[in-house]
Amino acid sequence: MHSFKTNHISKHKLSLSPFLNRTLSFIKNRSNLHGQGTSEKEQILDKKFLKSLPKIELHCHVDGSLPLETIKKFSQRCGISLPKDPQLLKERTSVTSKCKTLFECFQLFNLQIDLLQTKTNIEEGVLSILEKASEENVKYIELRFAPQLHLKEGLTISKVLESAVKGFKRGKSELGIEGGIIVGALGDLSEQLAIDLFQSSAPFLNKAEEGGVVGVDLCRVINQYHNFGTAFKIARQLGYPTTIHTGEIGSPEFIATSLEQLYANRIGHGVHCIKDEQIIETLVKKQIPLEVCMTSNVQSNIYFRGGFHSYQSHPVRKLLDHNIKVTINTDNRTISDTTLTREFHLLNKYHHFGIVQFEKVFSNALDSIFAPPHVKQKLQPFLKEYQSLTTN
Ligand SMILES: [Zn+2]
Repeated sequence: MHSFKTNHISKHKLSLSPFLNRTLSFIKNRSNLHGQGTSEKEQILDKKFLKSLPKIELHCHVDGSLPLETIKKFSQRCGISLPKDPQLLKERTSVTSKCKTLFECFQLFNLQIDLLQTKTNIEEGVLSILEKASEENVKYIELRFAPQLHLKEGLTISKVLESAVKGFKRGKSELGIEGGIIVGALGDLSEQLAIDLFQSSAPFLNKAEEGGVVGVDLCRVINQYHNFGTAFKIARQLGYPTTIHTGEIGSPEFIATSLEQLYANRIGHGVHCIKDEQIIETLVKKQIPLEVCMTSNVQSNIYFRGGFHSYQSHPVRKLLDHNIKVTINTDNRTISDTTLTREFHLLNKYHHFGIVQFEKVFSNALDSIFAPPHVKQKLQPFLKEYQSLTTN
């Protein structure tokens, strides 16, 4: 266990409104950033300051991130009863010690999936997640979900996507948040269904200005990656950027399979690469971004031999120090009961991330977004905000 001094960084003033002004007093204490008389381990960053940092999120599931108030509202609307007791409600909506197996953790998604079966709820649900993200200064977010899980009440894939895009478009105009939707194929369904999904979603691609589809994903797959080669070849021909859930659990060799056979531009999680030097070398050489979700990994790896059972044992800092393109994400804001600000706080607390590391993480994410170059251009000033913190 590391010991941390509560020093003056945690007490810097945040009273001035624009971000740069807010951080001026922080910059004045920059000796704390760069270790003049203060070791890296002592840099405790205030949560308000961490919240104020501009952020990018690349890995966030819609059906695991509906805010609690949205879950309550939609449940009433759908006639689903929820526990009144706050503790019981928490157990119904997020990972707690009550989850005895990973399968029980997966069951938590069913509630939010059931609530997202109508056009209105999908649109409002997406918007509600964007509102929460925006509150912690997320400037760009890619929200992912599997449209095929939202057809229970007669919607088509097109209608599901139309509603999600409508929600994103509202978020973009009402909150100024950029980003788009990642369409997830399900690894426990057939390859043909993945192909059907990618083809049905194609009309929504390249509409990033409207918060449209920006890429595709493969989730719920443990080891059958090679069965999806044709689907992802078609995805590539259709022009989708690709991210693949792999290296979260199981063998690191599936990261290589995802890169070679599924044309992955990014890897969802990928943290188990730390066990394979050759894969680390490939990830560094090709500068493949990893969408790291620390809390989610700690929660799910409890159930796997060789997993990362605690924040302290998570390899995120080693990955960054290996020069792997690490980005930081929540995975599931509600099910994992976290936010990006909380992830930043935990990175600061357990892995000594300071402003230099957070700048790197922002710059990595900015490089890795799936939206077209003009969106990246719009986000450049936020990187400059970080740079002003580290160079002044
Ligand atoms: Zn995920």
